Amino acid sequence: MKIICVGLNYGEHIREMGGSPPSEPLFFLKADSSLLKGGKPLFLPSFSDSVEYEAELVYRICRVGKSIPARFAYRYYDAVTVGIDVTARDIQKRQMERGLPWEISKSFDFAAPIGDFIPTEELCETGGIGFRLEKNGVVVQRGSSAEMIFGVDSLISYLSQFFTLKIGDMIFTGTPSGVGPMRCNDHFTGYIGERKVLDLHIR
Ligand code: MN
Repeated sequence: MKIICVGLNYGEHIREMGGSPPSEPLFFLKADSSLLKGGKPLFLPSFSDSVEYEAELVYRICRVGKSIPARFAYRYYDAVTVGIDVTARDIQKRQMERGLPWEISKSFDFAAPIGDFIPTEELCETGGIGFRLEKNGVVVQRGSSAEMIFGVDSLISYLSQFFTLKIGDMIFTGTPSGVGPMRCNDHFTGYIGERKVLDLHIR
């Protein structure tokens, strides 16, 4: 199982990070050992002083495919949830400054908590899939699939040029603005529409 993560896919987030919009999707991978599900707590890593949340829509691949045309991409995913692209920001910045890979900051154990998947057939996608993240009961991030620079169909088409997509693979589709710190004892909840899908305690 692969976890493919797209970066810089929302305009407001690109502005808050001080970047510029990419001409092609930017992506990286997380190891399957970073996956955290089933309401288990996230234990903060000891090697970072600045762990941040990035709430993202996560799509689940349901069919094997390679070089998938965008117009057929909808056949290759069947469910969506909210996940957090947990990022050791201090380490990521250091790696970026040195031109080094990001995995150490993005792919460690517990760096990919996900919520319960909702079948896409249960969602009305007209106008986009809206989601939000609350931290200790306060909304910190809001987004919609309609605001993505590269939508999921175009991401699947692009990514499947390089990787055979397999059943169970997951695509984190980028975070909207509002990223911020995760601290011990924080409680995060993620919603798609008004359905709570993610419940995460930080330890
Ligand atoms: Mn991200």
